[in-house]
Amino acid sequence: METELMDGASLAASILEDTSRRSEEVAGLLGRRPCLATVLVGGDPASATYVRMKQSRCRDGGIESRHVALPESSTTAEVVNAVEVLSADEAVDGILVQHPVPAQVDERAVFEAIAPGKDVDGVTFSSFASMALGGGVGFESCTPGGIIRLLDHYEVGLAGAHAVVIGRSPILGKPAGMLLLARDATVTYCHSKTRDLPDRVRDAEIVIAAVGIPNFVRGSWLKPGSVIIDAGYNPGNIGDVATHEALGVAALITPVPGGVGPMTIATLLAQTVEAAAALVP
Ligand code: NAP
Repeated sequence: METELMDGASLAASILEDTSRRSEEVAGLLGRRPCLATVLVGGDPASATYVRMKQSRCRDGGIESRHVALPESSTTAEVVNAVEVLSADEAVDGILVQHPVPAQVDERAVFEAIAPGKDVDGVTFSSFASMALGGGVGFESCTPGGIIRLLDHYEVGLAGAHAVVIGRSPILGKPAGMLLLARDATVTYCHSKTRDLPDRVRDAEIVIAAVGIPNFVRGSWLKPGSVIIDAGYNPGNIGDVATHEALGVAALITPVPGGVGPMTIATLLAQTVEAAAALVP
């Protein structure tokens, strides 16, 4: 079987073009450009790079960006206060707190300080309820939301399909499964305590790998003709799936890099413009 690579980079570029056009329209109606505020606590170089990438995509997409940098020694109260100020600021449409925050900061308390209508990264309880139950105020978590956009673009049938999600983190695995369930997939969550993991994966028509271990999912685990979403991003641009083994077995697979990663940022920006559009009278 020939395996097709799912080109997240091209799809993300086209979403960003649409987002940029929509941003212009919204700016005309609101009298200001949509604005994304990023909050970075501490000096982790990888986190700083992710924030810079998001700011640069904002510039490309006609979206204002604002940045709040807080010291590594910040307390929970200080970070919560900075987020509350952004939540109350009428010129800010979306807020992203770069994950992870230093250990002494209560990340959940910080996330909950984000006004639900500005939670364009989909990290608040309100966004989770919205993803799980539909309705309410909130947005999709960006990586899972980007994965669904990618699956839709490649016309992967979700209703009734068996999807195995490996990983249950609050930013990735858990919401990915919730969004697939909302689209009528039959979802199995796997994690570090799952027994017979390869057998669970062998039954999957769709696999979402969100583990954080390079080349964790082996080609011999995959059902022929399955769709493989490799959300992993490990040092050296290595995904969570042994791609070289999956080629020839899977029908579709995301490359690393150029698959899920660009879709995350595209979803973040699209949701920021959506948040601003919701304010248009
Ligand atoms: P995380 O918070 O560390 O969660 C990892 C998950 O994998 C946990 O649920 C854990 O299970 C599970 N796991 C660990 N070892 C396992 C094993 N041996 N067998 C089965 N499950 C196992 O990681 P994350 O933040 O979700 O990120 C996962 C990966 O996605 C990382 O490579 C990260 O870099 C990447 N990522 C990519 C993007 C992007 O935009 N492309 C965005 C975010 C993250 P337990 O719950 O039982 O501990």
